[in-house]
Amino acid sequence: MKKCSDFVLGMDESVTLAAANRAKQLKSQGRDIIDLTLGQPDFKTPKNIGDQAICAIENGKASFYTQAGGLPELKQAVANYWQKFYGYAVDQKEIVITSGAKFALYAYFQAVLDPGDEVIIPAPCWVSYVDQVKMSRGKPVIVHATQAHDFKVTVDQLEAVITDKTKVLLLNSPSNPTGMIYTQEELTAIGNWAVAHDLLILADDIYCHLIYGDAQFSAISSLSPAIRQQTMVINGASKTYAMTGWRIGFAVGDSEIIAAMTKFVSQTTSNPAAISQYAAIEALNGDKTQVEVMRKEFEARLNTIYPLLCEIPGFEVIKPNGAFYLFPKVTQAMAMKGYHDVTDFTTAILEEAGVALVTGAGFGAPENIRLSYATDLESLLEAVSRIKNWINSSN
Ligand code: PLP
Repeated sequence: MKKCSDFVLGMDESVTLAAANRAKQLKSQGRDIIDLTLGQPDFKTPKNIGDQAICAIENGKASFYTQAGGLPELKQAVANYWQKFYGYAVDQKEIVITSGAKFALYAYFQAVLDPGDEVIIPAPCWVSYVDQVKMSRGKPVIVHATQAHDFKVTVDQLEAVITDKTKVLLLNSPSNPTGMIYTQEELTAIGNWAVAHDLLILADDIYCHLIYGDAQFSAISSLSPAIRQQTMVINGASKTYAMTGWRIGFAVGDSEIIAAMTKFVSQTTSNPAAISQYAAIEALNGDKTQVEVMRKEFEARLNTIYPLLCEIPGFEVIKPNGAFYLFPKVTQAMAMKGYHDVTDFTTAILEEAGVALVTGAGFGAPENIRLSYATDLESLLEAVSRIKNWINSSN
């Protein structure tokens, strides 16, 4: 008897989680592995946030189901944050709280896609978009942005792939895996183009508070009322507040789509964990000192590690200005070591140099590898030195 469905058998495992698992496995066998695979802050959740979670347990508030779409107090905290950060008012009907931003994205695809509807996804892109669209009966349409163009797509590229089945344009800025940020001008051009074609826009802003140097984050939904009307913004607590384990995401946009997403949530996860929701209220409303401390630390690591990575023979690296990833093009380094496939190359770095990275193949970029600098500087320096020595060593 075939135990698993064709549907699940046809899905790919998340390459980042697979790479992280392999690193953990080798570590458990006693191997000395530096793990730069996962996109999660290496800091503990700020104390004021954790304290509110403990409080919610102790006073019994966390014992119960909440509204499927999230606690009204948390929605209000999101609405207040929205007014302050995005600069426009949103109603609670335009908000749904989910078990992580990942589930907000999935609920959105489930809510808007009919079979065969196309979603334009600029690549390199985060690993889960493509599979989530497929799992929601849609068709991912990948548009490849080049390293020469800072990994950003242009309106001309989008125009070349639009069809009468195109329903959604997805944008992720700052981007995972490239760390690139679209400027206000670029977003205005893309947003106006999407509105002119009556497309929905899905803006994954999860890295919006991890911005470095002179760069500025622009929110596409804040650019004009017409763009805002078409846009669903995805955001969450994971990256900004070092809360990946708490699983809190939110989606803000059109109330009809939010209602459909809330229905989907009610039939799948029910509400996100009540404890986490109480913690998230504090994250949004409370003291942000620690958030800035973490951002500065990421920036310092980037500034230290970037020039060293550029010195590795055969690595071509653009300096990112957001998120916490570096995404070098490694075609020359692969040739020097006799590799043709970036996944094999990444595996060799793991097995032979003891550094776990993620193959660019899973992000739609077969010439690149992803390195997360959300880990301590000492490990990062050691990792870069190991990779450099490995590249320089003879085969
Ligand atoms: N969107 C992007 C671009 C991400 O990189 C991630 C996590 O890695 C997510 C969404 C999901 O975040 P969460 O932990 O809130 O599910």
